[in-house]
Amino acid sequence: MDHHIIIIGGGPSGLSTALHLQRIAPHLAGRVLILEKEHYPRFKLCAGGLTIDAEIILQRLGLDVSEIPHTDAEDIHFDFQAKGLRIRLPKRHALRVIRRDEFDNWLAEKTRKSGIEIREGVVVKNITPKSDRVIVETNQGIFHAQVLVGADGSNGITRRNIFPKDSVYTSRVLEVITPTYPHRPSSTFPNSVEIGRGREGAAYFEFSPVPNNIAGYIWDFPTQINGEAMRCWGIYDTNILASEQRPQLKETLAKEMNRFGFDLNDYEIKGHPIRWYSPENQMSAPRVLLVGDAAGADPLFGEGISIALGYGAIAAHEIEEAFQRNEFSFNRFKRRVVRSALGQTLIARWIIAYILYPIKWKWFQILLWRISKPIVIIVAWLFVLNWGKRMK
Ligand SMILES: Cc1cc2nc3c(=O)[nH]c(=O)nc-3n(C[C@H](O)[C@H](O)[C@H](O)COP(=O)(O)OP(=O)(O)OC[C@H]3O[C@@H](n4cnc5c(N)ncnc54)[C@H](O)[C@@H]3O)c2cc1C
Repeated sequence: MDHHIIIIGGGPSGLSTALHLQRIAPHLAGRVLILEKEHYPRFKLCAGGLTIDAEIILQRLGLDVSEIPHTDAEDIHFDFQAKGLRIRLPKRHALRVIRRDEFDNWLAEKTRKSGIEIREGVVVKNITPKSDRVIVETNQGIFHAQVLVGADGSNGITRRNIFPKDSVYTSRVLEVITPTYPHRPSSTFPNSVEIGRGREGAAYFEFSPVPNNIAGYIWDFPTQINGEAMRCWGIYDTNILASEQRPQLKETLAKEMNRFGFDLNDYEIKGHPIRWYSPENQMSAPRVLLVGDAAGADPLFGEGISIALGYGAIAAHEIEEAFQRNEFSFNRFKRRVVRSALGQTLIARWIIAYILYPIKWKWFQILLWRISKPIVIIVAWLFVLNWGKRMK
């Protein structure tokens, strides 16, 4: 089975690559095949927070994410010990929260409708690049492609096959879904109604774990499941301070949830790593490109949906030019990523992560989130957000 382009993985990065190819090189789209090991709507552990940049990239593809169930957080709080900076955007939500089973299923439907083939239940087992093609071995036979896109996530086989010796930077992440804030006092936490009041419509990032060597934060987002209001909690640790003594992530999350009347033991806790961007990460080999988590997500917050969509746009341009030139070394792909607005935000976030998390001094966190608010807002606006608009 011969294809021009095989994309391994039908998450946001793989689907975005296909949708962008359809837009900029419709003549190639008929020979694109996406291989996805699961069946939609498939579960994906993720808090589902969509930043403005994700929405901008989707809008440029002519897609309106408000077609699927979502919860909008009117403001985002960046706190240290429950006090800090509140961000509210003029005339729009600060964060839109979707469920990944619904989002990916919707995006896959849009991709299919645009004429691109997706085969579900196909597990890629091995990849062998040759000078004239790439051989892709799966549980359903062998495929051949001129170009292979590894969009298979943080633990993907593409990167492991192509760059077995590449250093891997991954964060540890735990996530829990709970009902929304209690409206009735519970016997265990009688004050929980008062404590949770007013938090329902907002998303929270809490940096109190940093002084304890957890190089990350705890989040608390509003979400919904089957139309019912819920909260999505989690803890993110970049692992930058892995050599130091650290408390258990679970214990730290449990303490924070406890403050708001939730007992972590009552809920199912799930974990998954996120491979993050470092300037050392390799992103391409002859005939092979990596996108999304396989190439590297945001190290600062572990944000990866908008980033995955952005990688898709860049990969599509790279592939289109490769076919035009009939030259598939892809030796300029990483440079292309780094020079793009996406690459600039990834580098900025990588630098900020290495400044923000290793300074474990409590007063630094207080200074940052409570006292230097205008500076933080300007830095965030210039270097962290708004890169989607600057993408060509
Ligand atoms: C707990 C948690 C919370 C998060 N919260 C957020 C958030 O709020 N906002 C945000 O922006 N990001 C968040 N992220 C990050 C985000 O989920 C990822 O960055 C994003 O999913 C990356 O997209 P992707 O397409 O690169 O990979 P994925 O979404 O992982 O998709 C990869 C696809 O490849 C398929 N696949 C894998 N191996 C194979 C194979 N061998 N053969 C065929 N198919 C294969 C998988 O089934 C999957 O569908 C979170 C991550 C975690 C773990």
